[in-house]
Amino acid sequence: MTDEAPAMNAVVFKKPYEVSYERVPRPINPQAGEAIVRVMACGLCGSDLHPYRGAEKGLREDTICGHEFAGIIEEAGKGVTFARGQRVAASFTTACGTCWFCTHNLSSRCDTVQLFGWVNKSGCGIHGGQAQFVRVPHANGTLMALPDNVSFDEGVLLGDIFATGYFCAKNAMSALADSQMTPAEMTITVVGCGPVGLCAIISAKLLGVGTIYAIDRVKSRLDMAAGVGAIAVAPGKSPLDVNCAVTQSGRGMDAVLEVVGTFDALDLCFQLVRPGGVVSSVGVHAHDKGFPVSPEQCYDKNITFRSGRCPARSLMPEVCQLLQSADIGRIISHRVPLSAASEMYRKFETQEKGVYKVIFDPWA
Ligand code: NAD
Ligand code: ZN
Ligand code: ZN
Repeated sequence: MTDEAPAMNAVVFKKPYEVSYERVPRPINPQAGEAIVRVMACGLCGSDLHPYRGAEKGLREDTICGHEFAGIIEEAGKGVTFARGQRVAASFTTACGTCWFCTHNLSSRCDTVQLFGWVNKSGCGIHGGQAQFVRVPHANGTLMALPDNVSFDEGVLLGDIFATGYFCAKNAMSALADSQMTPAEMTITVVGCGPVGLCAIISAKLLGVGTIYAIDRVKSRLDMAAGVGAIAVAPGKSPLDVNCAVTQSGRGMDAVLEVVGTFDALDLCFQLVRPGGVVSSVGVHAHDKGFPVSPEQCYDKNITFRSGRCPARSLMPEVCQLLQSADIGRIISHRVPLSAASEMYRKFETQEKGVYKVIFDPWA
């Protein structure tokens, strides 16, 4: 980079347990279909922790981190329908908006999909949103115009974790459509009460679920879950006791939502679910321990398993409508300058008390 090249502040990945706040080249000259977004708010996600912990390998050193951001169109390339100055939020993966998957509510499997903040060792991929500016390919499909009454912080949540929590809960409910139960009669358990788990609890409530239990290993996370309307299962108490306590004859949960991304958590979900119930999983399983149950065990319990990367762009308009009733902003615990990234990665990773959803301001 020469002294004259435009530069910006960003958080870059160095190696496991090390991210760095640095001056890096600024994206300029958007090509056809691309937009450059001036980032006004960006998020730290549990998914950022997988490469940070070294569990997800292959991320190239100096990749700009982060896949959650909202901001203002700085420059628009040819064919982009957004105008300079327009307020937008991005989904955490790019979406062309026109392929079969994008037009069938599965934007996360777009033919050209890329994850923001992921450049592999060969240099393929795109930089992320924990920066002052970000280049957005397929801007028309990836970005959504933010209504005036939706803040940038809310825009960050729409593009990933609120959409993902909603996806997780809705997948469970749709799989139970033939169960002869109303949502109010259902009892579900959410395993994992990080920011995405909290969004799943809030979403399940919005979808009318009657009883929601929450399980986590960390007391402060359980307290948060209780704060958004779940019944916390005390750490140390066997979660399996919950089944007996709340369902007659201990038949088990109608649905269990897995929002962690570990073998143990998914295993617990299969133990908790009742025959004919559903395990809805959104945790990213960056491990090689395999799947906790066999096809035979699934057969013997008539289990429905749903999973996958959230098609956030497909869901953003729907979850945006829910914002007013959800008060989702209450899960944001920190709004700090981007220069605090290194410290906040550490605190979020160690689940320091009081650290839930962290939003960075790249201009503070
Ligand atoms: P997080 O790391 O803050 O939350 C995970 C929570 O699980 C923590 O509170 C932790 O204490 C708890 N936990 C760990 N082991 C447990 C166990 N065995 N039983 C119960 N609880 C346990 O992260 P987050 O931001 O809430 O993200 C949660 C997961 O969702 C991550 O795996 C993330 O990658 C994934 N995610 C997936 C998508 C998607 O599209 N599918 C999108 C966003 C995030
Ligand atoms: Zn994420
Ligand atoms: Zn597409």
